[in-house]
Amino acid sequence: MSARFVIDALDFVRNAGAHHGKITPAEFVRLQDYLTDSQGWLEYTISGVIGSEGKPLLRIAVQGEINLQCQRCLASMVHLLDLKTDILLARDENELSRFDEDDSVDGVLAVPEMDVLELIEDEIILSLPISARHLEGKCSTSRPVGEEAVGREHLFAALAALKKLH
Ligand SMILES: [Zn+2]
Repeated sequence: MSARFVIDALDFVRNAGAHHGKITPAEFVRLQDYLTDSQGWLEYTISGVIGSEGKPLLRIAVQGEINLQCQRCLASMVHLLDLKTDILLARDENELSRFDEDDSVDGVLAVPEMDVLELIEDEIILSLPISARHLEGKCSTSRPVGEEAVGREHLFAALAALKKLH
């Protein structure tokens, strides 16, 4: 299941549009690859704003809780999301490539049918830590030896095999 919420980006800014919504992590198909399960919650706000230099932009805020895999103990861990970002709207490819050259800004081509949830999903994925870990000392070290431990060994073997490929 993939929800869709489409706006005409420049119109949205012209009308000072704002939208607030809730979504479950399960609804973000691409995000699933990064999660241990689809538990948790997400809330977003998107507003159309004219930025400091008179440029139209989309201001996105996302808050929520999702479950990532700890790269140290491989158990699930709660990851708190609290991100805010401004995405400049480029009117054409030239403007977009100028935005892309500037590391300090995030730009996207302003299309008449912009899929907001896809944009939000992108921002969430970009914000995830490259290597998620429990806080020091918070890893689950007291796991019973059993099927689960075997499962972990398989995972390590798979990881080692992956590393050899690179
Ligand atoms: Zn851990």
